[in-house]
Amino acid sequence: SKAKLFDEKTDIKTSFKDVAGLEGAKEEVQEIVDFLKNPDKYTSLGGKIPKGALLVGPPGTGKTLLARAVAGEAKVPFFSLSGSDFVEMFVGVGASRVRDLFKQAKEKSPAIIFIDEIDAIGRARGKNNFSGGNDERENTLNQLLTEMDGFGTGSNVIVLAATNRADVLDKALMRAGRFDRQIYVDLPDVRERKEIFEVHLRPLKKGEDLDTDFLSKQTPGFSGADIANVCNEAALIAARKGKQSVGKQDFLDAVDRIVGGLEKKNKIMT
Ligand code: ATP
Repeated sequence: SKAKLFDEKTDIKTSFKDVAGLEGAKEEVQEIVDFLKNPDKYTSLGGKIPKGALLVGPPGTGKTLLARAVAGEAKVPFFSLSGSDFVEMFVGVGASRVRDLFKQAKEKSPAIIFIDEIDAIGRARGKNNFSGGNDERENTLNQLLTEMDGFGTGSNVIVLAATNRADVLDKALMRAGRFDRQIYVDLPDVRERKEIFEVHLRPLKKGEDLDTDFLSKQTPGFSGADIANVCNEAALIAARKGKQSVGKQDFLDAVDRIVGGLEKKNKIMT
């Protein structure tokens, strides 16, 4: 079977309304939406549209969601791939696959390319160089750098990449004309958690006793992904009890269950 290199989606429905909190990050990517929608407005004054931005932050904080929302807001195609899948699946052909990806994105431009877990491809070169696998990864990284340098100001392809390990990335990636913008996507504070709860409560049949202030206070350290998970889990718990709506106790049970899961995960990690 032929493994798929990347996913291509047109007509993305995700918008900034789906992304709760992250005000600063949304403001920064709004500019990218404007570039994609009206490139001429910027280039006519001699400016160069940025080629890439790095979304940096812990897992589950909405980096992928934000990248999709940029494509949805700008109404441009979204080419996405995961760095770790990429390195595993395309041994020997990584560089040529990167070339294909950029070629297709340029043909459909304006477009977004989104590389999740870019650290899998973009780790600093010349370290741990014991196996052939690393040379392969370096070839892929070099091709990525070449592609980003190669596309001119007229190409209107913007590359967004996500990582939770900006510290391990090859500095060459951050050079001017590549990922020269870094956008921080942090864990939500209590106010932002409330907004995230509101987004993920939308599809649920809500009980009378639900209180998003209370829920956001009960969930310190939770990411947006954890909160989405809590909302879904609470709905399943309520259904299992045969209830007609999802109430406060279902959420507390769901929080307990997810905190238990997180503790286990942390134990394995340390
Ligand atoms: P990873 O680093 O693990 O890839 P990520 O930062 O890309 O994580 P997403 O995949 O965007 O995180 O988030 C997973 C899911 O969590 C989203 O699809 C969404 O349902 C929910 N979520 C995360 N952050 C937010 C947010 N700020 N607002 C609303 N929902 C969110």
